[in-house]
Amino acid sequence: MSLDTPLSTLSRVGPKFSKKLEKLGLKTVSDFLFFFPTRYEDLSRITKIEKLTPGADYVVQGVIIRSHTHRSFKKHMAITEIVVEDETGAIKAIWFNQPYIGKALAEGAMVNLAGKVTEDQHGMYISNPLYELIGAPKSATTHTGRIVPIYRETKGITSKAIRYFLSPLLEWIKELPDYIPQKILTKNNILPLKEALRAIHYPKTLEETTHANQRFAFEHLFLISLARAQRKKENHNSGIPLTIHLEEIKKFIDSLPFTLTEAQKKAAWTMLKNTNEATPMQRLLNGDVGSGKTVVSAILALNTLLNKHQVVIMAPTEILARQHFDTFTKLFEEYPIAIGMLGGKKYNYAFQGLSSPTKKPTLLKSIQKGSVHIVIGTHALLEKGVVFTNPALIIIDEQHRFGVEQRAVLTRGKHITHPHVLSMTATPIPRTLALTVFGDMDISILDEMPKGRKKITTKIVSPENRMQAYEFVRGQVKKGFQAFVICPRIEISESKDTKPYTLTPNKLIWWEVKTVKDEYEKLQNLIFPDLRVGMLHGKMKSEEKEAIMKAFAAKSIDILVSTSVIEVGVDIPNATIMLIESAERFGLAQLHQFRGRIGRNEHQSYCLLFTTSVVHLEERRLKAMTTTHSGFELAEMDLRLRGPGEFLGEEQSGWSDIVMSTLKNPTLLTVAEKEAKLFLAHHTTTETPILHEKLQSFTSKLHLA
Ligand code: ADP
Ligand code: MG
Repeated sequence: MSLDTPLSTLSRVGPKFSKKLEKLGLKTVSDFLFFFPTRYEDLSRITKIEKLTPGADYVVQGVIIRSHTHRSFKKHMAITEIVVEDETGAIKAIWFNQPYIGKALAEGAMVNLAGKVTEDQHGMYISNPLYELIGAPKSATTHTGRIVPIYRETKGITSKAIRYFLSPLLEWIKELPDYIPQKILTKNNILPLKEALRAIHYPKTLEETTHANQRFAFEHLFLISLARAQRKKENHNSGIPLTIHLEEIKKFIDSLPFTLTEAQKKAAWTMLKNTNEATPMQRLLNGDVGSGKTVVSAILALNTLLNKHQVVIMAPTEILARQHFDTFTKLFEEYPIAIGMLGGKKYNYAFQGLSSPTKKPTLLKSIQKGSVHIVIGTHALLEKGVVFTNPALIIIDEQHRFGVEQRAVLTRGKHITHPHVLSMTATPIPRTLALTVFGDMDISILDEMPKGRKKITTKIVSPENRMQAYEFVRGQVKKGFQAFVICPRIEISESKDTKPYTLTPNKLIWWEVKTVKDEYEKLQNLIFPDLRVGMLHGKMKSEEKEAIMKAFAAKSIDILVSTSVIEVGVDIPNATIMLIESAERFGLAQLHQFRGRIGRNEHQSYCLLFTTSVVHLEERRLKAMTTTHSGFELAEMDLRLRGPGEFLGEEQSGWSDIVMSTLKNPTLLTVAEKEAKLFLAHHTTTETPILHEKLQSFTSKLHLA
């Protein structure tokens, strides 16, 4: 067995469960070992039955003296009842609708039960406890009688199953070599890998888990620091130093119809200086929607062109690529600059403000020849036939949707030099998180909005005011404005979207998550039959999407119902309403991004938040939306309340706890950085193959590696 061994070959797992584990992102032994518990339950203390009191959680251990399964009269529900006895007394345990439990728990067997003790008129009992059969008292147990790890679960895979699959690996872990050099571990009192892994999955005490977490936090920061230091070392002098054409840039800035904000000036200047160096720039430009990132990137682009190098601009969707094409065509209409756009089936060419569609082969040839100066596109840029000519600047918009490999493809070919890379995102990433997670990129922040932007009025709307809110929307449309309606889903997915939620035992409330299709039907047919309602979602063909966006931009649609995945950066200055359904489903940073799509004209704009159920009306998070207008503040709050998963994405949620603990411990970063530098001063990572390999797989998972 090795770390790369597929889980399907493990005897306890097999093909059936390995499919399910894959849903949790787990494919190999390594994935599994690094799948950390989300929390622990301390079931280590066994209580004698005579000491039990109702209302608290306990673990009891005893012999099963009675086991009986029957069906209830009314509902035909299987009810399993057992009685467990120790030397001080006996207690009943009950399970509902789990008939197999009765078969597992035969009379005479020794069992541990963990759960809450309840009391009714017949006495005390434990309902639906966690159980574990044990061979003999005091033998080692996996699920009870110890500190029990609880993992992220999925359909058909419980924490119990995960513990069962993991337990045979624990013996094998003892042989695992550490990729962090022993010297560094000893010096900083850090647990070795094998001990840390054991403590994470099989802790003897809760303190031990803290110590183990510390190890992985350190590891995380050490690897990031190592990657960054290594890249700097490797890339040293491999970039293209661009001369700063100050006069031309000043002229361009003066020609803009507005004055740059201080934040824009600062970011542009920093990057001009970066690209003036022989070490390639790797910078993230982070700023709220509407903070004016595009024009900053245009300044960089212009300077690159003045140095006679190509510029590549990559956008996540065709609509956004198209928008960049239009924006850049307009910005450079006075310049002898040729701009090409390829995305999906669209090929366009523009020169001095004049744009026209063109044929694919013609455009590709011109790009290769270098007669296209700025190449704009979607993933289509990554296709084999696209060959750039000495690009010195790559601009990546909403970068988090691009992987590392894709970025490498962009710079493929004969180029020995590395272009400068400017990534832009409107997702407000808290500074603290950026430092530890995105630490191998330099970051510029646009924390200032262009002058004259009105604050957007944000309101949480309770269900009884829904019609009133719709009337308000109608009023805005009658005044000539437009509205967005955002829903979390395209259509209903049974498992995810409707789940019963009990408020009181008698009153069942169904959570109904709004869907684009239903809302579209409802709004067009019932609420606004007199208005023009449109629909947009990710399952539509890109031509369809584009047609709808065009119609919306041309004001031939009044209200656009769409999902969240649609076109973060789209500019519709005439929209004054952003209505969000099931708002509690979204992260604050995301809600803030939606809100950023309105308020782009001189009129007052409104963001209306609807919740799925009344229980969400009081959510602190949503209330923050109504009082806070800074994306960074909201992001910090989300980080505190929901953890870093929001920013890291699902597949990285295994990091969440680790990342959180790194955030709480800034000195750990300093130590890790120092150790990484020291290490590289005397070694290369390739000298230590396991470290090298770990570093590779680690950086490939980093968003911005
Ligand atoms: P984002 O950061 O979301 O990409 P954009 O670059 O699309 O924002 O800019 C949003 C709008 O603000 C554009 O119409 C742009 O022309 C305008 N804009 C950019 N900078 C300024 C500024 N300093 N003053 C006024 N308007 C600006
Ligand atoms: Mg943008």
